[in-house]
Amino acid sequence: MRAIEIIRAEHRNMWRAAHAMQFLGQRFAEADNETERRTVELIVDYFESFCEVYHHPKEENLLLKRLAAKSNEAAETIARLRRDHDASPAQLARIRQLVGAPDAAKKLSQEIGLFCERLVEHMRMEEDVALDLAVNIFSRHDWAELDAAFRAHDDPLNQGEVGGDIGLLRHRIAQIAPAPEGLGGRVDTRLPMTDKSPAPVKAAAPLLEVEGLETRYGRIQALHGVSIRVRQGELVALVGANGAGKTTLLRCISGVQTATAGALRFAGENITRARPESRVRAGICQSPEGRQVFAPMSIEDNLIMGAHTRPGREITQSLEEIFDLFPILAERRKLPAGTLSGGQQQMLAIGRALMGRPQLLLLDEPSMGLAPLIVEDIFRIVRMLKERRGMTVLLVEQNARAALAISDYAYVLETGVVTLEGSGQELLKNDSVQRAYLGM
Ligand code: ATP
Repeated sequence: MRAIEIIRAEHRNMWRAAHAMQFLGQRFAEADNETERRTVELIVDYFESFCEVYHHPKEENLLLKRLAAKSNEAAETIARLRRDHDASPAQLARIRQLVGAPDAAKKLSQEIGLFCERLVEHMRMEEDVALDLAVNIFSRHDWAELDAAFRAHDDPLNQGEVGGDIGLLRHRIAQIAPAPEGLGGRVDTRLPMTDKSPAPVKAAAPLLEVEGLETRYGRIQALHGVSIRVRQGELVALVGANGAGKTTLLRCISGVQTATAGALRFAGENITRARPESRVRAGICQSPEGRQVFAPMSIEDNLIMGAHTRPGREITQSLEEIFDLFPILAERRKLPAGTLSGGQQQMLAIGRALMGRPQLLLLDEPSMGLAPLIVEDIFRIVRMLKERRGMTVLLVEQNARAALAISDYAYVLETGVVTLEGSGQELLKNDSVQRAYLGM
């Protein structure tokens, strides 16, 4: 199923290109600029020359055609995807025309916004519905043909060293839309697609202080004197490779793993020896690695479990707040949690942690095992929790690029030791972080 990886990788590139174009479109409305006009033209060239000539036909002639022949269920989705493919050349032509028109900045920005919105919806539908169906019904033979066709015309943005317009375009996109991999989400469409750096947080007192923390699993020492701080209202990321000790540190903070040395202070109180339940009552709530939702129980009951330390009268209000944040959970509240997709289960796991009314939200690998499209949704939610709700978040992630892009401050953990720290933006630019975690 190499074709699926290629489609997703191509979607990621399209999303970044669209994301950059939208950012530039918004800037036109404020001040016109020749370089930016040229970049938008390059992006339109890319969509026309690659997507219209290679990507869409590959999907049309192989994926959608074959899906249509094998599944009635897919008919509506296929029709919608085909309508989008048909409409896209005219949309791109309108953008190209407006780029060349003086005094059309506002119209251009609107047209780009519309294009991006449709593109995001289109890619989402394709990944969430069409590819899911294809995985279930296509034979090995189908996949062999699809794989070969998708390999045959690679996205120029994925090719090694390229010069000329594509090199320039790649450079510009990387400058403008460097961060998340994946797609924008539906969960809070009020959030702009633009990926501005988070607003600097005013120096507040640390909500969480971890000092010289050590812990062991029998003879294995997993943490060797780890010290980190999380200030009120901050989003702090903890990144590092497999087995670095990230989950262990979260387990020590939530109290399910005992510290053998060092100290933990939360809101000024020493909690090093406090029991896990009292830490939850104090406001430390965790969304665990692997989500761990209770599949046979209803979505609503899963959420209610997250509020077990709170008085019953407050639960209804909290449930409504979570449903407001994640409308998909409201729609399906009575269904078993196991009927949700992976991304929706991650939303449920975050919602369940929020039901405890946390002062500090611990998120363990929220992007784990999710398609890039969904990963972006999840990171958008995390950023929104911080920016709109003032939530303090400690985010553990292997997807260092996405985590650093949204964090105020970050720590790199290697074999139980903090080896680097700095603002998310500083670490994104750091050579050793780029080499070790960003694949650059
Ligand atoms: P991952 O992203 O793979 O979860 P991590 O950074 O969260 O990695 P931890 O799971 O905290 O890392 O593991 C840190 C170290 O502790 C590793 O060497 C791991 O093998 C070890 N370890 C973790 N859990 C246990 C356990 N229950 N028993 C023994 N050793 C463990």
